[in-house]
Amino acid sequence: MDPHRLRNLLHPDLLRKRLEHEGKPRTTLSFYRYVRLEEVEGMRHALYAEWQALGVLGRVYLAPEGINAQVSIPTDTLDRFRSALDARPEFRAVPWKIAVEDDGRSFLKLMVKVKRKIVADGLADDAFDVSNVGAHLDAETFNRKMEEGALVIDMRNNYECAIGHFEGAYLPKADTFRGAIEEVVGMLGERVRGCEGEKKRESEEVNGEWPLVNGNATNVNAQPAIKQSVTHSTTQQPEILLYCTGGIRCEKASAFLKHHGYTNVNQLHGGIIDYARQVKAQGLKSKYLGQNFVFDERLAERITDDVVGTCMQCGTPCDRISNCHEATCNMLLVQCHACAEKYADCCSPSCREIHQLPMEAQRAWRKGRNTRSTKTKAIRDPEGLRRRIREEEELIALHGTLHPELTSINRKEEASA
Ligand SMILES: [Zn+2]
Ligand SMILES: [Zn+2]
Repeated sequence: MDPHRLRNLLHPDLLRKRLEHEGKPRTTLSFYRYVRLEEVEGMRHALYAEWQALGVLGRVYLAPEGINAQVSIPTDTLDRFRSALDARPEFRAVPWKIAVEDDGRSFLKLMVKVKRKIVADGLADDAFDVSNVGAHLDAETFNRKMEEGALVIDMRNNYECAIGHFEGAYLPKADTFRGAIEEVVGMLGERVRGCEGEKKRESEEVNGEWPLVNGNATNVNAQPAIKQSVTHSTTQQPEILLYCTGGIRCEKASAFLKHHGYTNVNQLHGGIIDYARQVKAQGLKSKYLGQNFVFDERLAERITDDVVGTCMQCGTPCDRISNCHEATCNMLLVQCHACAEKYADCCSPSCREIHQLPMEAQRAWRKGRNTRSTKTKAIRDPEGLRRRIREEEELIALHGTLHPELTSINRKEEASA
């Protein structure tokens, strides 16, 4: 079969319609495995053909280091999908996590991509032992350790934390995995150095060896001065609890922290997705509050009714996440209903002005501009956004527009009409 035909070329609106007409109950699930894969290209084509026949939709990454999959499957073919997975030695018995909130429309098409790595983490894997991961904890143990005062660290990006997180967790400000792990290593280093200061005041016996390789917390890929990973006196070691969406990012993060000398590293097995399932199944108290950001059409699934975020435009408590509807912007933001109405589902008056133009004029304006298709670019600085909105509103009041270039577009339109 021609491999080029093994992909979807239909328009998203058509795909959405097709899915609506299908009317079959679907299950959204995710799984990953670090496993050495040979012949990744060939496997990609085989999996695509096999899974498409089962009605699988979703986003799958294959790399020489393994598989990372988020998929939606007609519920009546789940068993066949399981058998197909188990028939391949590489994926036999791979544990999967089922989404708790699911309207069956999480994905519109099937995409199987060959990548260099299954998570774009930006880390140099040969600089540390990626197999030396932390202890995997179930929901109950994770809760207990939280009660015992362990340090909880969110390993996701800022926009994921903005609508839900574990109580009292450290939330990185970075919007990439590499940025977040650098920040966490820096934060831990400061904590440990803080302990060192206290201890030194108490006694002079403490030696000055601290877990920062090369004394540099910010350069993640720096080769360690000593070849072995560093170990440190366990008295100042905080007990660390890591978590992420499905557990995959914690595999790298825990290995990286261990490489930096932290010995007491734990990670939430199956991530927030499986935590939510266990909490439900076992009647535990959810210490995760709010919504779980997911990388599909749903954007988020609700775990508890708590609202942990604030509207980025007006600052009121809110955890509604949305994309700016102006197609070339498409930025993710937390936006309350009132602001969504006020700004016509856009991030700013500037985007609103374009979005409210007739379709033809919008198209003319977009000509030559790039459309940002990714859903993982988010507003990083809500304070700055609010400032920009105020300035833009003032300018609109003065000049009636934020886009003087539209005048020439309109003139061209009229001329060609
Ligand atoms: Zn608002
Ligand atoms: Zn926008």
